Amino acid sequence: LVIPDFTAFCAEITRMFDAVRDCRDGEVAAYIPQLARADADGFAVAVRTIDGQRFAIGDTATRYCVQSTCKPINYAIALDRLGVDAVHRHVGREPSGHSFNAITLNAAGLPHNPMINAGAIMCASLIAPEQSAADRFDTVMQTWGALAGEGAVGFDNAVFLSERDTADRNFALAYFMRENGAFPDGTDLKATLDLYFQCCSITVDAPGMATIAATFANGGVCPLSNDRVFTSDTTKNCLSLMASCGLYDFSGEFAFTVGLPAKSGVSGALFITIPGVCGIAVWSPRLDALGNSVRGVEFARRLAGRFAFDGLVDT
Ligand code: GLN
Repeated sequence: LVIPDFTAFCAEITRMFDAVRDCRDGEVAAYIPQLARADADGFAVAVRTIDGQRFAIGDTATRYCVQSTCKPINYAIALDRLGVDAVHRHVGREPSGHSFNAITLNAAGLPHNPMINAGAIMCASLIAPEQSAADRFDTVMQTWGALAGEGAVGFDNAVFLSERDTADRNFALAYFMRENGAFPDGTDLKATLDLYFQCCSITVDAPGMATIAATFANGGVCPLSNDRVFTSDTTKNCLSLMASCGLYDFSGEFAFTVGLPAKSGVSGALFITIPGVCGIAVWSPRLDALGNSVRGVEFARRLAGRFAFDGLVDT
């Protein structure tokens, strides 16, 4: 067992959950009504190890939209299909140092990395562009089902419709990238943005997201089904960019203080990967000024302060 005394480990997780629950700092994202209505004090933590142990506490049955946590998954889908060279002809792999939706490109005229909006829109354009919109979305949903277990994943159409209606910034990013010749020839911008908004509107519960994180921790093999979802190279590349770029312009600080690959989203989603050990999902909608879950970041800090994840976890 990668976590030999799982009972003691879960007791520690529970202690951290209780400590962080008292924090009511931050505001729920309000750029669309569907997110503004989220339960501000909702809170869930879930853990799944790569060898099948699991634990969850809090609002573990609530499904929340995944928002930016779809970014590593779309990047991984694109990598698996096209390979690293073809993908990185269209998107960089350095932190941007700017906010997640900043209108900025790197010196080559490409989005800085796949973990911010511009790069995620680019990755959406790379997923099976020759297929119909329906087939492209099916590809994405099948991947989520394989990563998380079918029952854990859904889609929130109201979020999708309002994302699309209020998406001036994302349209601006897409046009800016097109002006700079960043997209592959023949890219359909409207279809690309629709797919990106649909991916942000996928829903999952915390145990499902912990399974996704555990799949990344397990080299791309889902510990629930033992099916390989992503190659080990794709998984490694994705974890590298989560480690350097996963929390927008807080990524450097998070790498310094926590040191684990993770990805956040404006719904208050956060998933953390402890390679070779487990995946952890936190959901708590109140966000800090940079768009990361306040409780999520605080939980991650406590986790890293309590355990040295150097292979075997000594509780
Ligand atoms: N739907 C959001 C957007 O495109 C996702 C961004 C995020 O989670 N940071 O702006």
